[in-house]
Amino acid sequence: MVDDKTNQAMGSNISPEIESKFQSLKSLIEHVSGKKIGESQVQQDSGLVEVLPFPFLAMVGQVEMKYSLLLALINPAIGGVLLIGPRGTGKTTAIRGLVDLLPEVPRSLCYYGCLPEDIESGGIDAVCPECAKKYARGEPLAAMDKIRLVELPLNARIEDVVGVCDENVTGHEKLRLHRGILAHADRNLLLVDEVNLLSDDVVDAILDAAAYGSYTVKRGSTTATYRARFVLIGTMNPEEGRLRPQIMDRFGLRIIVKGLEDKDQRLEAYKRVQTYLSNPRQVMLEYDDETRMAQAEVQLARDILPEVKILESLSNQGLELIRALKIDSLRAEITLFEAIRAFAALDNRKVVNPEDLKIIAPMALRMRRSEFIEKYLSDQSVEELEIKNAVSNTLMKT
Ligand SMILES: [Zn+2]
Repeated sequence: MVDDKTNQAMGSNISPEIESKFQSLKSLIEHVSGKKIGESQVQQDSGLVEVLPFPFLAMVGQVEMKYSLLLALINPAIGGVLLIGPRGTGKTTAIRGLVDLLPEVPRSLCYYGCLPEDIESGGIDAVCPECAKKYARGEPLAAMDKIRLVELPLNARIEDVVGVCDENVTGHEKLRLHRGILAHADRNLLLVDEVNLLSDDVVDAILDAAAYGSYTVKRGSTTATYRARFVLIGTMNPEEGRLRPQIMDRFGLRIIVKGLEDKDQRLEAYKRVQTYLSNPRQVMLEYDDETRMAQAEVQLARDILPEVKILESLSNQGLELIRALKIDSLRAEITLFEAIRAFAALDNRKVVNPEDLKIIAPMALRMRRSEFIEKYLSDQSVEELEIKNAVSNTLMKT
């Protein structure tokens, strides 16, 4: 069995049975959650340390978490994902497991991150002089490259996050100095663990960059603007502290990650983790076919996404839902609509259906209502009425 699997891994072709069995990434995700892992084949410990992530598809259950992370890969316009739950529920493991599923994006060949689309939107001055010359000669400014997972280190300082620029250099050169983590996250995934424990300045810098796709560093009279178009994935353990409501609002999908409740699922999860601890390569091989197929499906879903449409009747239902729940933030519908489009793409469809809305709505809309704002506005409406009455009473007297 291992030999066959190894051959397939070397040959890098997805077996035809697997390919014909699954119509979409959605059906694959449903299948692997119930797959049983083989007996452990413990190998002689070589003493070498090799860090292999636990395969994303080998995680038992947690379907909502899996969907949300895949949706964020398929459609960055969702606005990222926040995984909320206690320790030991596999939040970080799931995120790190994404590395084998990451799609490719056009990545700049230049240090400054110039892309052809910059010229299309901002003219030739939007790129560095070197890229302007290349563009004129008809040479490519970008090549396809896999998205990477960039992790914000715990205790990262604001200088590490935004980088620093030097006042003594000018022009394009000033961008060259000490780029921060946000610049490295451009066109990648940015994992921020324990987002509720970060200092305010670091969180604000990350969220602003995520919202605008760029950020500016100032030092004295020098400023430098860096591109930072990334998908933000955060985790938090609510036992360790709250997240400010305005920060919570900036995350697209919100997933509550609980421990597995089903006894059989817990046992299967235990077996998979034990097998992984004694022989990580075996677990990777067990899921090798599915992993490669899932990666191809993510890429395919990204390709069809621009063609996925929401019928007007369904978008009206979505808006009605948001109104009925009394959610104010406009981010609610952006996330909801972009996520249902991505979900249809994940299921290989170009039209969104009501079932998609049913599955996605809780992920996009939970924890968006503000009791404070509701009370504040209702108090305010009492005052409005008092003012109105006072005005008409006074005017009647004159
Ligand atoms: Zn350039």
